[in-house]
Amino acid sequence: MLSTMQDAPLSISQILRQGSTVHGEATVSTWTDAGPEVRTYAEVGRRCGALAHALRGLGVTGDERVGTFMWNNAEHLECYLAIPSMGAVLHTLNIRLFPEQLIHVVNHADDHVIVVDPSLIPLLEPHLPKLSNVRHVIVTGSSTAEITVPEGVQVHAYELLLAEQSTEFAWPDVDERSGAAMCYTSGTTGDPKGVVYSHRSIYLHSMQVCMSDGPNLRQGDRALAVVPQFHAMAWGLPYAAFMIGASLIMPDRFLQPEPLAAIIDSEKPTLAAAVPTIWQGLHLYLEQHPQDISFMREVLVGGSAVPPSLMHSFEKDHQVTVLHAWGMTETSPLGSVARPPAGVSGDEMWRYRYSQGRFPASVQARLVSDDGTTLPHDGRTVGELEVRGPWIAGSYYGVDTPDKFDHGWLRTGDVGSITPDGYLTLTDRTKDIIKSGGEWISSVDLENAVMGHPAVAEAAVIGVPDEKWDERPLVAVVLRSDAGDVTVDQLKEYLSDKVAGWQLPENWALIDEVPKTSVGKFDKKRLRASYRDGDLT
Ligand code: ADP
Repeated sequence: MLSTMQDAPLSISQILRQGSTVHGEATVSTWTDAGPEVRTYAEVGRRCGALAHALRGLGVTGDERVGTFMWNNAEHLECYLAIPSMGAVLHTLNIRLFPEQLIHVVNHADDHVIVVDPSLIPLLEPHLPKLSNVRHVIVTGSSTAEITVPEGVQVHAYELLLAEQSTEFAWPDVDERSGAAMCYTSGTTGDPKGVVYSHRSIYLHSMQVCMSDGPNLRQGDRALAVVPQFHAMAWGLPYAAFMIGASLIMPDRFLQPEPLAAIIDSEKPTLAAAVPTIWQGLHLYLEQHPQDISFMREVLVGGSAVPPSLMHSFEKDHQVTVLHAWGMTETSPLGSVARPPAGVSGDEMWRYRYSQGRFPASVQARLVSDDGTTLPHDGRTVGELEVRGPWIAGSYYGVDTPDKFDHGWLRTGDVGSITPDGYLTLTDRTKDIIKSGGEWISSVDLENAVMGHPAVAEAAVIGVPDEKWDERPLVAVVLRSDAGDVTVDQLKEYLSDKVAGWQLPENWALIDEVPKTSVGKFDKKRLRASYRDGDLT
């Protein structure tokens, strides 16, 4: 029997309409040298109309790709809303990709227009001659003085383009399954691969960001999106905030602990999102420069495993709950969120919070063994995590990668276990797990344990070749500046009752900083290369 329900498509233009009318008083604040610059959602809505007219005027039709090479700011929010709503496809470019990767993704996605922030021109300009189909570059602000473009490319100032336009745009009907936005993976473990989100997937994902078993973004919240808009769509916060009427706080280029502390002090976010390294840095900074941040209800942390010590520090020192979540560019990115079941407390509650969390109803998860057998969710059996659902990628753009999919399930490359009540605990990425004498050692467990030592600022663990055991763990440690004369032997001793004896690492390296990927995660590829080059001893 067919249902009697209307077949109304889900689209970004509905989010734009809701945010700019019903929630027209909500605001987006962009941090600048002179403090916050505030714009209401009503104003954002009008400027989206003008931006869409401007892009049409530049010849953007159909599903043409418009790239953004931008920090998190109000103009980037306008691009998020206007470009898909007019039927075109937003392509958020990772500003920290290596040049050859950047050139590859712009050409692969076939970007015709790129919107760039003035402060990022030096990173884009040298590569413009190699961006085959880019015809227009739009510089945010009112000036194009800082940029030189190759022949055949036209340059425009964002504000001047918008100033000439009507603010009313007749947003077209779009097929909800068509592409709205695309994002390439950050290439932590290989070449960047493109994921194309649909209007439908973004709409449904935005609803999940507002669900109480998800990040629980609410009307009236003030959400600080530290996670870049080019990293898995800032974890869905911009769209969800516009949908539900939460204000957005955008840090632009001010991502160091000191300005972040100033932004938090000035803008009083109720919720914030970033990878663990950002919160580690902020926590160290706040130890030296105490300030109240307890008005933050929760900080959403994911992208890599969150050390339990970080969760406890935020809870104890700042009365802020760290909410651990797992996801990938390929999963829009919300997968699991570590909200404990109602009613649990004490150690039991913490065990739930350490985990990567539970999946929402829309996302199915399973564990699969090397030979393809589906494994039980008994909290012990470990296998590769596979997921499927309406906002999970079913393929990559323009490349055939059958090994990444398994009969309609996305193979995540992550390894872990799931409890009978649905909580995922990740042991590692398949590529990072350490295979020692036929047994697996979790680099994440070792990192969490080492980072629990009060003298340790950061610790990253990689497997290094070993004649007898094939591989053994090596711990690269960054000590806190006030660590005194802590020795490796003391760190080993500290670990001795926290991990099994055979897992205790014998290889240690004290380093100044763990290298980070383009989205701020520990860069184990570079650590392994340093080890091979003899720089990590
Ligand atoms: P990249 O794959 O380029 O790093 P993503 O941001 O899409 O870019 O990374 C997704 C991966 O990040 C996941 O497959 C997983 O390995 C890791 N990850 C994300 N969240 C967590 C988490 N909470 N705990 C452990 N690992 C995580």
